[in-house]
Amino acid sequence: MKELREAIRKQGFGIGEDIVKVDMFLNHRLDIALLTNIGKAFHEAFGDTQVDMILTVEASGIAAAITTAQAFGNLPVIFAKKSHTTSTLGGDVYEAKVYSFTHHDENFIRIAKNYLPKDAHVLIIDDFLANGEAAEGLAEIVRQAGSHVAGIGICIEKGFQPGGQRLRNEGYRVVSLATVTGIENGKLQLAESAED
Ligand code: 5GP
Repeated sequence: MKELREAIRKQGFGIGEDIVKVDMFLNHRLDIALLTNIGKAFHEAFGDTQVDMILTVEASGIAAAITTAQAFGNLPVIFAKKSHTTSTLGGDVYEAKVYSFTHHDENFIRIAKNYLPKDAHVLIIDDFLANGEAAEGLAEIVRQAGSHVAGIGICIEKGFQPGGQRLRNEGYRVVSLATVTGIENGKLQLAESAED
């Protein structure tokens, strides 16, 4: 998505060798015009398949999940809640363990069972794809519910980390709107696109 790549070029930067910072429009300050177009781009990418609801994980996936849900005609959005401890609610929640790349720790993500029905077609949306842990955890929760992953939509894929390949090898339809291929001296390298 050209507009997203331009925002990354102009306002994004890298920290060290593997952290991408886009706080100016996606992770702290939110650019609503850009996010609205991100939602439309996911609708364009997945509009040919059945989608009943959007699933993401708090907090930074929620904005893109909302605009995607709007582009699909106001579908429900469910966001998994993160916790450092396993649930005490036992049978009432679906839960998966996720290793956090940015925080270097393990989290549990969970969703109350009554919000995720059986046999739903669920589109997973997230801001970043790095090692694929968050998306795998969300897909695991969809599986626990007896529902189906309609696809995985990612705003920014970090192509130098293995998550994208891992999820695609498992057969998921993964669409990334921009791919960062590397970081050199704080500058983000972006994958070429025919749109550029
Ligand atoms: P994964 O689970 O694929 O390893 O990492 C994806 C999750 O970690 C996303 O939900 C995102 O919030 C966070 N994340 C991973 N890499 C980055 C990064 O470079 N920058 C930011 N802002 N978040 C990241």
